[in-house]
Amino acid sequence: MLEHNASLRAADPTVARLVDLELTRQREGLELIASENFASRAVIDAMGTPLTNKYSEGYPGKRYYGGNEIVDQVEQLAIDRAKSLFGADHANVQPHAGAQANFAAFMAVLPPSGTLLAMSLPHGGHLSHGHGVNHSGMIWRAVHYGVNPDSGLIEMDEVRAIALKARPKLIVCGGSAYSRIIDFPAFRAIADEVEAALLVDMAHFAGLVAGGVHPSPVPHAQVVTSTTHKTLRGPRGGLILCQGSLAKAIDKSVFPGTQGGPLEHVIAAKAVAFAEAARPEFKDYARRVVVNAQRLAAALTERGFRIISGGTDTHVMLVDVRGKQVTGKQAEELLGRAGMTVNRNTIPNDPASPFVTSGIRLGTSALTTRGMGEAEMTAVADLIDRVLSAPTDDTIAAARAEVHALAAGFPLYQPAGGRVR
Ligand SMILES: *Cc1c(COP(=O)(O)O)cnc(C)c1O
Repeated sequence: MLEHNASLRAADPTVARLVDLELTRQREGLELIASENFASRAVIDAMGTPLTNKYSEGYPGKRYYGGNEIVDQVEQLAIDRAKSLFGADHANVQPHAGAQANFAAFMAVLPPSGTLLAMSLPHGGHLSHGHGVNHSGMIWRAVHYGVNPDSGLIEMDEVRAIALKARPKLIVCGGSAYSRIIDFPAFRAIADEVEAALLVDMAHFAGLVAGGVHPSPVPHAQVVTSTTHKTLRGPRGGLILCQGSLAKAIDKSVFPGTQGGPLEHVIAAKAVAFAEAARPEFKDYARRVVVNAQRLAAALTERGFRIISGGTDTHVMLVDVRGKQVTGKQAEELLGRAGMTVNRNTIPNDPASPFVTSGIRLGTSALTTRGMGEAEMTAVADLIDRVLSAPTDDTIAAARAEVHALAAGFPLYQPAGGRVR
């Protein structure tokens, strides 16, 4: 139990028990979901504060409610830290999450029914980039590019050809399951050629940018959106960075355009996370995330798995599991029973349905936060291989015991002197 939950335990044992159970789940398992991480105790503490009580519609110095003297300082601190961390002209720290950041940012640069070009979801894009079931796909005309199914890579010639034909006013890059560094200058050149704005959604790799191990999209894109909870390791939330000329449009689009009052307790936690990400230790963390991902990808390849695009430049990889005679759905379930949390994922040109899929997506941000290194990545690859190669009850039980032992060696949220906090 996180000790600051003592009052919750007294007031509402039912909710407190569920929080305890979830913490135990996080402690005992191996978290391999590429979009997840473990925020620091300081980040979590900032969220559990009376800042949640305050209404502060508007922006620092321009609010629609009284009593914002302190909250203005909180939000301005988060803005200043975000700008300095990413070298951006302007930052809006109010989006409640990544999808809300995208919606507000798209709306600021593309009128309804305008055309946008983004990566398709089944090739690694994101629902909020104009997919038909998302409102973005209903409000705007969305055209999509994919990857070459053989190489697993985005081909800039193809992106350019589609852009010349569709004449989008907004081009989006950055996805949820693309493991390679995206060529931002090439995207910008195409955007300039067709007179579109370039928006980079760095939701997944923002922490790697902050840590200096991934090129920054900020000098190349008019707008950069992000989550704050993936590799960036902050609270669950969104962020928009933009060039100075778009600052007013972006701010208006977030509030009053799409949101009401900002979550100032979460914004305080974002400020804490931005400061953490500016420290030398975070650079080392980001470097280890990538080293670990490359080790995990290599160890899986050695064990007969096909990694889409042959490897990774980031924290994420897409693994074709068909070689082990299982579907992505089965792999997710079997690994889950062994205490390893992953998500099934379509692979480029996947013959299976999006519900079944032929792949799983893995990421190393969370395990690296726990302090795991290359030796542990090899052990994880071995566990994955053993479970998926011979998924009997005995193999799964044996793997689960090893997973618990491995996890126990890297304690999470220890009261004092622990590895994480
Ligand atoms: C995760 C993600 C989002 C959405 O973030 P939420 O906080 O879940 O709304 C948007 N874009 C990309 C590329 C993502 O990976």
